[in-house]
Amino acid sequence: MKEILNMTEPVSRKMSADIVVIGSGPGGAVTATLCAEAGASVLLIEEGPNLSLQSVPHFSREEVLRKYRNAGICIATGRSKIAYVEGRCVGGGSEVNRGLYHRTPEYVLDLWKTEFEVEDLSLDKLKPHFIACERTAQVEYLPGDKPLVSTRLYDGAARLGWQAIEAPRLYRYGGIGAPGRKQSMSETFVPRFLLAGGRLIADTTANRLTRASGKWFVKAQHAPTDGRPRQQIEISADRVFVACGAVQTPALLRRSGLKKNIGNSLYFHPMLKVVAQFGEDVNKPGDLDPVHQIREFEPDFGMGCSISKRPMLGLAMAHHAGHFAEIEQHWRRMGIYYVQAASGRATVRNLPFFRDPLVTVRQSEQLLRTLANGLKRLAEALFAAGAVAVYPSIRGYPVLRSMIDVRNLPDMFGGEDGSMTSVHVFSSCPMGENEAVCATDSFGRVRGADGLFIADASLLCGPTIVNPQGTVMAVAHRNATHAIENRFR
Ligand SMILES: Cc1cc2nc3c(=O)[nH]c(=O)nc-3n(C[C@H](O)[C@H](O)[C@H](O)COP(=O)(O)OP(=O)(O)OC[C@H]3O[C@@H](n4cnc5c(N)ncnc54)[C@H](O)[C@@H]3O)c2cc1C
Repeated sequence: MKEILNMTEPVSRKMSADIVVIGSGPGGAVTATLCAEAGASVLLIEEGPNLSLQSVPHFSREEVLRKYRNAGICIATGRSKIAYVEGRCVGGGSEVNRGLYHRTPEYVLDLWKTEFEVEDLSLDKLKPHFIACERTAQVEYLPGDKPLVSTRLYDGAARLGWQAIEAPRLYRYGGIGAPGRKQSMSETFVPRFLLAGGRLIADTTANRLTRASGKWFVKAQHAPTDGRPRQQIEISADRVFVACGAVQTPALLRRSGLKKNIGNSLYFHPMLKVVAQFGEDVNKPGDLDPVHQIREFEPDFGMGCSISKRPMLGLAMAHHAGHFAEIEQHWRRMGIYYVQAASGRATVRNLPFFRDPLVTVRQSEQLLRTLANGLKRLAEALFAAGAVAVYPSIRGYPVLRSMIDVRNLPDMFGGEDGSMTSVHVFSSCPMGENEAVCATDSFGRVRGADGLFIADASLLCGPTIVNPQGTVMAVAHRNATHAIENRFR
C-alpha cells in the first residue's frame, strides 16, 4: 500500500489528461477513482503533501503542522467568529479526522429535494452509493470495551431517557487489541485510483481555470517539499472536477471568473466545547477514540465527546486559566465534550494579494440561543453521568458545579465571548435545479461552464446534521456515476 501511495507523477511544465480532478479529499478521491476505472486518463492534483497515514501520530502537533491548512488556524470572521480547520494533504480531511460515520438522514435529503429541487435524490437512491463507498472505505463499530470518557456521555443520556448512540467509524479495527487502520482516502480510494492507472501529483496548487478551443486549462504551481525548485505548470483537459473542499472550491472558481451562486452559502456545524471533571479516572492514555453521540435534540443540535488528550484539555479550558492546576492534578478525570448546531452561514470571497479567501460569518441570534441551550443540555447529561464540575468554553462563564448553576445560565451568550469552532464545512456551491440559489445542476455540472464539475462538500445543499464525510462520498459517487453514464455531457 505504501509503495502505491508513493507513486506520484513526474511533473513537467505542460501536461494533459482527459480529466483533471483538483483536490484529493473524499469528494475528489472517489470521483477520480470512478473516472479512472471507467477508462479515462485522469490526473489528480493535490495542494498538500503525499504522506502516508502512519507518517505522523494521529492527533499530534506534528500532524497539525504537516497535514492541516495553515497549521490548523483558519478563522471565519464576523461579530461571532468561528475557528475552523481543513486537511491539506493527499486524502484531505479524511486523513486527519476521526472518521465518525453516518449515512445522511432522510429528512435532510427531503429538505434538499424540496428547497433546492435536486433531481433523483432520496435515501433509497443514494443507498447503492453508500454501499459502494463502504465496500472500499470500511465502516466498523469499536470492538470490546469502549473508552470510559465516551461511555460517560452515553450513560448520562440514558439516565435522562435521551436517545444516544455509538457512532460507527471509517475504521478497520482488526479485533480487540489489534492496532487497526483508519479508512482514510490514502488507505482506500487513492490506492484504488492508482491501481486503475490514475496519475497523482501532490504539492501542487491549482490557481486558476481558463477555457479555450473547447479545452480547460488548469494553471497551477508545483512546490515540492524536498527542496526542488517551484514550478508553474499548465494542465489541459477535456473535463475538470473541482474538489478542493467547501472553502477552497468557491475561492478557485471565483478567481477563475465563475461567481453565480458560488461562495454565497457556506455552512458550518459550529461547536462549543466544555471540559467535564469526574470523581474518578475516565481518561486513560492508549484508550481508543471516543464514539458516543447524543441525538435526542437533532436537528437543532447534537452532542459528542472529543479527543481529550492532556494538551487539548488545556486549550479547551482557556477561559478558566485559574483552574489549570486541576488539569495538572486531575487530567485523567477529565474529558472534552461538545455541542454542535447547524446554522452557521457564511460567504467566501477572495482578497487581492491574499492566498486564503475571506470567510465572513453572519451573526445569528438564533445560533447563539441554540448553542446556549445545547450547552445547558450537555452539562445536564454530564452531571447525570457523575461529573463534579463542568468548564464551558465561553468567556465570563463560571465553572458549573451542579444543575442549579446550569439553570442560572443565560439563554444566549455574546457571539464575541464564545469560542466557537468547527470541523464541518459545506454548501458553498449547492447543487439542484433551483437556479436562483444553485451553482450546479442536480449532478454537480457547473451552470454555464461546459465540462466543469464540482465534486466535494461544496455541493451539499445545507448542513448534514450528522458527520458529513459519508454524504460527501456518496454524493460524489452518485454524481461521478451519472457523469460516466452520460459520457460527461
Ligand atoms: C479535524 C477534522 C475532523 C473531522 N471529523 C469528521 C468525522 O469524524 N466524521 C465526518 O464524517 N467528517 C469529519 N470531518 C469532515 C470531513 O473530513 C469533511 O467533510 C471531508 O473531508 C470533506 O471532503 P471534501 O472532499 O469536500 O474536502 P477536503 O477533505 O477538505 O479535501 C479537499 C482537498 O483539496 C485540496 N485543495 C484545496 N485547494 C486546492 C487547490 N487550489 N489545488 C489543489 N488542491 C487543493 C486540499 O489540500 C484538500 O486535501 C472532519 C474534518 C476535520 C478537518
